[in-house]
Amino acid sequence: MSAAAAHRRAMGAPDDLVRCPLMPTYGAPRVQFVRGEGSWLWDREGKRYLDLLSGLAVTSLGHAHPAVATAVAEQAATLLHVSNLFGTEHNAPVALALDRLLGGGGQVFFANSGAEANECALKLARKWAGGPQGTYTVVSAYGSFHGRTLATLHATGQPAKHEPFQPLPAGFRHVAWADVGALDAALDGSVAAVLLEAVQGEGGVNPAPDGYLREVRDLCTERGVLLMLDEVQTGLGRCGAWFAHQRAGIRPDVVTMAKALGNGVPIGACWARAEVAAAFEPGDHATTYGGQPLATAAARAVLSVMEHEDVPARAERAGARLTAGLLDLPGVTAVRGWGLLLAAELSVPAGPVAADLLDHGVVVNAVTGSALRLAPSLLIADDEIDHAVDAVGAAIDRAVAAVDGGGE
Ligand SMILES: *Cc1c(COP(=O)(O)O)cnc(C)c1O
Repeated sequence: MSAAAAHRRAMGAPDDLVRCPLMPTYGAPRVQFVRGEGSWLWDREGKRYLDLLSGLAVTSLGHAHPAVATAVAEQAATLLHVSNLFGTEHNAPVALALDRLLGGGGQVFFANSGAEANECALKLARKWAGGPQGTYTVVSAYGSFHGRTLATLHATGQPAKHEPFQPLPAGFRHVAWADVGALDAALDGSVAAVLLEAVQGEGGVNPAPDGYLREVRDLCTERGVLLMLDEVQTGLGRCGAWFAHQRAGIRPDVVTMAKALGNGVPIGACWARAEVAAAFEPGDHATTYGGQPLATAAARAVLSVMEHEDVPARAERAGARLTAGLLDLPGVTAVRGWGLLLAAELSVPAGPVAADLLDHGVVVNAVTGSALRLAPSLLIADDEIDHAVDAVGAAIDRAVAAVDGGGE
């Protein structure tokens, strides 16, 4: 048995997972989920878990939402795919809804993931700026996350992740997060665009400080460079606004999104102001699957439910309740984030607490060594929030007891 397989078996993975020939890009799975409903998941043994992670901010309407399930099932039995050589039913309605939620005046390209939505933005910025003339650099922030393709990996401001994959595509530059002066200094004549998250998600749930995005907007306008917001994790209600940048009262030139748009069906989108989008001509960019009927049927149902439920307001209310509950726990030193994209800073290491919570039927993730990320369904009920707070409190208590007892 390989070391990885032995590890999986030791972690209690079922036998078919032990033998499964998956590349070792992910850690050994500890649980296999087979079913979900709302905020809850069930594993193979029938054990129930409260899902406070939503598949990394994807299932914002909870699992197996009936409207989405019906739309997907009906579409699967009607038409799955014809290619972008032809029109399909849901493309325009979904694009119109997204454009409306973004304030209008833009156009949309459909992709299949967050990284692909960002690839579209990066190519658009180069085409818009006339890349061959030497204006092609994209400036992003340290601590950011923009994807795992070669270009989006280079946009990701985490040098340790770059190292094994050099050389990466040229034309990327990183500056300190939340430092307008550093950004100002980086905007030389080679720069086409600035790419930022409004809340750095993978980087530890770091919201833009007050005034930062507005100053960045002014700076980009003054220098004639595009401001592109990566809302792949923050978008579609998660942060208490349709898009997190709207909390800062700014209008970006380009916005990318993905995770919550299909509630689990892969889809990404890149929106750009129409004057910027006009830089693309037929043949400049394409994808086989992007915008195909299954994905857009799901997105159409998702957006319809989201508007009906007013998910930004729900996220804001639920986020306030969750934050207040967590702050009442002795082992929580701080809570940061917007809406229902939160990080709870702990007085004990977060990794073991997250593992212990999973054992006790609660799904969270340790977004840093000392913080748990909480990104539950935007439709989470008050009693589920209270259950979450109690569970996190009990897990911290067990961790503290283990530290106290471990010294003897
Ligand atoms: C998850 C994420 C991505 C990458 O999305 P994929 O669908 O995994 O390619 C890009 N940007 C941000 C901010 C993300 O959170």
